[in-house]
Amino acid sequence: MSTVRTFTTSRNHIAGIAVTELAEKFGTPVYVYDQQVIDQRIAELKAFDVVRYAQKACGNLAVLDRMRKQGVVVDAVSAGEIRRAMAAGYSLEPGKHEIVYTADIFDRDALELVVKHSLPVNCGSPDMISQLGERRPGADVTLRINPGFGHGHSQKTNTGGQQSKHGIWHTQIDECLRRADQTGVTVTGLHMHIGSGTDLEHLSEVCDAMERTAKEVGRTIKTISAGGGLPVPYKADETYVDLAKYFELWDATRTRLSEEFGHQVALEIEPGRFLTAESGFLIAEVRSVKQVGDNHFVLVDAGFNDLARPVMYGSYHPISVAAKNGDASEREQADVVVGGPLCESGDIFTQREGGYVDSRRLPMTRVGDFVVLENAGAYGFVMASNYNSKTRAAEVLIESGEAKLIRKRETFDDLVRGEVIPG
Ligand SMILES: *Cc1c(COP(=O)(O)O)cnc(C)c1O
Repeated sequence: MSTVRTFTTSRNHIAGIAVTELAEKFGTPVYVYDQQVIDQRIAELKAFDVVRYAQKACGNLAVLDRMRKQGVVVDAVSAGEIRRAMAAGYSLEPGKHEIVYTADIFDRDALELVVKHSLPVNCGSPDMISQLGERRPGADVTLRINPGFGHGHSQKTNTGGQQSKHGIWHTQIDECLRRADQTGVTVTGLHMHIGSGTDLEHLSEVCDAMERTAKEVGRTIKTISAGGGLPVPYKADETYVDLAKYFELWDATRTRLSEEFGHQVALEIEPGRFLTAESGFLIAEVRSVKQVGDNHFVLVDAGFNDLARPVMYGSYHPISVAAKNGDASEREQADVVVGGPLCESGDIFTQREGGYVDSRRLPMTRVGDFVVLENAGAYGFVMASNYNSKTRAAEVLIESGEAKLIRKRETFDDLVRGEVIPG
């Protein structure tokens, strides 16, 4: 696998189907996923014993179904995600560990579901060990550890160190084991997920911390999980991680632990972004093109209600243009600001962290052309909202050259469902 990727600012097709045809058939804005990209990413992780998909990245039932059919199991971070995994056909059979609840708290719904179905739990706070132990004495748990340092592409995505709410602080292992003993709970695994955007030097520190912590817990450990955080490039100067080296580091840690404990320790990985980000495209229609002082604005019918990453984290998404007629690659290029329909000045896709408006060099567009926000398959639709009373977009999956609707566009009835005007 090459570690670089090229991007283009004009695109006529997604997975062999014309963007104009997708827009016409399903309307805009619409999320489109290319199943082949997901399949390829799954195949790239086959060295790991278990690939556990962090479904919060893109939880559509059809996507989960396809993951399941390829042997990928799931992580659930809420009662809703547990039920989603069940609805997609994941098994509750004990010992299979197809669905693992991993969070920093049990809300009451999640605890009820976990107890009812005897689901495996990855505890991110010491209180969870006691709360589960009271309801299910003798349970096995895994612990999510905060090793005391982190790594992330922004303050909001950094998941280690003392600013992070995630995981059990590395000096509290002994306290956790004492808590576990009180209700006969056994710690059978450890997990470290410390931030999206891992690099390899950093990773070897994580592996060392895992090894130290596993030795502290001792021989009950049967699995270790590398967590998620495998990066994907969003820009030409960003790279994929060298997966062979990534695996090698974790595999060496696992092998040392297997030898230390005298039994096989399984190695899990738990990606979200890596599996789905690049499969996803958000197609929007250009509805206005206007000059505002020095800025040339291209306003489209998708906003941060559809794709929140730019406004939330200042995230960069590759953007391409599909002409309504002809080929956008033949058009003159210009520096443009791409924004959405919301009554909110932050509704800009070309912004940097801190809310600074940036421009992007793109082929000139006219009303009726399409703008494609790329790498939108992770933390895209799942963060969509109804702000400004916008209905959430449709989702479409392309497989074997066929575009299939996997989520209907919301309607006004969906929008007001549950609202009550008291008499
Ligand atoms: C979000 C999350 C992941 C996935 O993170 P990515 O950066 O998308 O790979 C994995 N594990 C846990 C516990 C998470 O919360």
